[in-house]
Amino acid sequence: MNNTNSSARPTASKDGKPRPPASKDDLNASAHFSLRQVITRIIFALIASAMISTLKLDYIESYLYDVRVTLKAMLGLSNPTNTPIVMVKISNATVDQFKGFPGFQQHTNFLNQLKKGSPHFVIYEFRNKDGKIEDIDGTEAERLAFAKTAEQIKEFYVPTDKTELKAEAGKLKFDEPLENIKIFSGPKAPDMYLFAKDSVYRRMLINYQDQILLHANVAGFYNPEIAALKNIRGRFEFLDSSQVYIHYYKQGSFPTFNFEDVLEGKVDPAVFKDRLVIVGTDTGKSVREYVQTPYSREITSMASMELHANMFQTLIDNSAPLRLPPWVNILLTSLISVLTVHVVLTLKPSRGLLLLMATLLGLALVAIILYALFTIWIDLAHPFLAIFLCYYFFIPYRLIIENRKSWEYFQKNKLLKQVEELKTNFISMMSHDLKTPIARIQGMTEMILKDEVALSSLQREAVDTIRSSSDDLLKFINSILQYGRIESQGVELHRQSKDINQIIIDVIKKHEFLAKVKKIKIVKELETLFPVSVDPDLIRQAFSNLIENAIKYSGEESTVIVRTREEQNKVLIDVIDQGIGIPAVDLPNIFMKFFRSHNVKTSTIKGTGLGLYLAQYFVHLHRGEITVISNSDQGSHFTVHLPINQ
Ligand code: ADP
Repeated sequence: MNNTNSSARPTASKDGKPRPPASKDDLNASAHFSLRQVITRIIFALIASAMISTLKLDYIESYLYDVRVTLKAMLGLSNPTNTPIVMVKISNATVDQFKGFPGFQQHTNFLNQLKKGSPHFVIYEFRNKDGKIEDIDGTEAERLAFAKTAEQIKEFYVPTDKTELKAEAGKLKFDEPLENIKIFSGPKAPDMYLFAKDSVYRRMLINYQDQILLHANVAGFYNPEIAALKNIRGRFEFLDSSQVYIHYYKQGSFPTFNFEDVLEGKVDPAVFKDRLVIVGTDTGKSVREYVQTPYSREITSMASMELHANMFQTLIDNSAPLRLPPWVNILLTSLISVLTVHVVLTLKPSRGLLLLMATLLGLALVAIILYALFTIWIDLAHPFLAIFLCYYFFIPYRLIIENRKSWEYFQKNKLLKQVEELKTNFISMMSHDLKTPIARIQGMTEMILKDEVALSSLQREAVDTIRSSSDDLLKFINSILQYGRIESQGVELHRQSKDINQIIIDVIKKHEFLAKVKKIKIVKELETLFPVSVDPDLIRQAFSNLIENAIKYSGEESTVIVRTREEQNKVLIDVIDQGIGIPAVDLPNIFMKFFRSHNVKTSTIKGTGLGLYLAQYFVHLHRGEITVISNSDQGSHFTVHLPINQ
């Protein structure tokens, strides 16, 4: 047997009224897009990305790059392997010891110590407090002695930030007697007027007007591979120069000694053997000693000599960061724009936001991994901006579409309600107008039938049929009227404490005649019950509909059982018949208004399809429910559940 309860109605809302308009989720679920829509969206996204790509975002881009440089160092992934570089610093302690910056005499003594270790290169960032060689203390003889000592070192260079034009080669010279010391152009190039314009040192020059500069020249000795420009990783051309980005090594990566320790012979000269020795200052007395780096924009982020060390090492390792070409940036920005527009216009807002955040984080993660493991710099500023801008551009557009849809549904719903109202009013009006003529017909037939002699038996039978048909019609009209009232005004409950058994007995009595005609036995199995607070008229009608159905849809000489019982704060009323039953396919629909199962529609049993709808409506008003177990040809078992404490 199949079983259903009153809430198992798939096609109508509980009160039988039209359903509310579809929710936004329903709309999303059913959304499907035409090719035209898809193409329009892609075009919109591409236009947006083209606009975004033209924006100059060097500052943000560089900032995002700096984060990756710092992260790589923090992860311990930017240490030089086998560096030939050694640094010697003139520190605050040195200045204290010599009661000022070392003079030429001390520099000569220092060089003599260094010479013992026979370094290959000595890069001398000559400076006193003001950074000028001319101001270093010393007599003419002391200067000359220094120059002579420097000449004995294999390659001794003083780097300068100046760049000579090709025609000016050799013009950069010290005054006598230092004229033989080679000043080598090895400029430090901050992003002062270009790119990020934040004075951070990110780039270095390899050559200028085809003249090789200091760092490439020195690095070529340790790594001959880079002698050919084309072999230099990450090289790009800019304003008559070849450049690379500096690969920043973790701060403190290069072995460093104090000037005075070397001078006093406290450092074993062997540590300088064949090395590249950078001599510079780190006294904290002048900003000129320091540079700003990706690690920090502090003026004193790194000593200038350490920057030189990083520049040399970048080329020695040939490990300059490889910035992916602009077309990759444009492609990525376009893809991200298309994705964002699609997400904004299609997905639920919360899910869309989540997906975009995931894209953002995913992209950041890929960029970090690429830099940390392969020193590859992928531009992020434009793709990131694409996510934000496309999101904020297209959200209002989405809202307009959603609003338009809601408005359309609202209008449709309004129309449906109006039609439904019109229908109900029409039915009530018609039924009302029909009642009077029927009452008149009934009156007339009663009158005729009362006259014992006026009619022949054939005529009597005809008038009898007229009477029973008009009875059916009246019942039909009453149901419709009641339905109309419920739909337009609802029903008010007038509760009284009642014995349900008594109501059942009354209802059965009313149907006894009908049962007798079909020789149907009605068996009452009534337990003693607590009184229940109900509207007796409505509950009576609900039971009446169920018992009438049981008799109506049962064959002759069958039994109908009406049982009452109490269970867990509920009164249960069973109406059980042995009739035609309800086919499984119809079972979920029998409580719908005007529904009749197909096995009765073809029979002569009359009905409106409103009885169960009304019965259920009245029981629901009492916070109860009706369940049914039935199957074709196996009888039906309806149960009304009424809560005792309502
Ligand atoms: P009707 O006026 O057609 O009886 P109801 O709303 O009372 O309308 O019942 C709806 C339909 O449910 C009926 O048309 C019938 O198909 C089915 N039905 C209701 N009660 C029974 C029953 N006791 N036995 C078999 N079918 C029933």
